Amino acid sequence: MSQLLFISDLHLSPRVPGLTQRFHTLLEEIPPEIEALYILGDLFDAWIGDDDPSPFAREIQEALKAFSKRTRLFFQRGNRDFMVGEMFARQTGAVILEDEHLLEDDGQQLLLMHGDQLCTDDLEYQQVRALVRTPGFREQALTKSIEERIALAQEYRRRSGESLSLKPADITDVNQQAVEHSMREHGASVLIHGHTHRPAMHEFELDGRRARRIVLPDWREDEPRLGLTWDGTTFSWWEGALH
Ligand code: MN
Repeated sequence: MSQLLFISDLHLSPRVPGLTQRFHTLLEEIPPEIEALYILGDLFDAWIGDDDPSPFAREIQEALKAFSKRTRLFFQRGNRDFMVGEMFARQTGAVILEDEHLLEDDGQQLLLMHGDQLCTDDLEYQQVRALVRTPGFREQALTKSIEERIALAQEYRRRSGESLSLKPADITDVNQQAVEHSMREHGASVLIHGHTHRPAMHEFELDGRRARRIVLPDWREDEPRLGLTWDGTTFSWWEGALH
């Protein structure tokens, strides 16, 4: 039976080669029954622009390109890699999704989001987000040198109160009203997101109907779960093809 695989919050960087290796292994071992891979943001710990000439940026794009030749690949921007653009899409074969994407599969309405936009209790963060996610920001940032952009990224991270730590305690959790508002707006019964590093499957009632919010696992050495699969009926945690 064909399945979809969802991952997010890998936070890949040249500083953590172990996770990069895990990512290569994941791509190489994804079995043919997986019909599509959805990366729901924060694939990278930082992405300063598609013109980044670093060997690391090239290595990841090459791996995705080889992968997308055999399996459909979708990418949604996270708060760490919102600078991903059309050149990245061309270089990897990924289809870039809107920040809120409704996926209709087997009569189910699955709403896909990175999840940071749901953390509405963190006002400082949302202010910075509103600033950097305007259409003009990316174009303007891209006129700066790579070095200037690295400094800029650090500055915005500091101003948004986003700690360098990736522990859930340092990330504001989603606001339930924001969750319900988005799900209602899209007519979705299931919401899949990452960002909070609090992997779980939550069930609740929304307007008298059963609703689910599934939080994807972030990638850590001590976290065996890599993502989530959906086979049209059931959601299951994914720990790799050989598990
Ligand atoms: Mn995030």
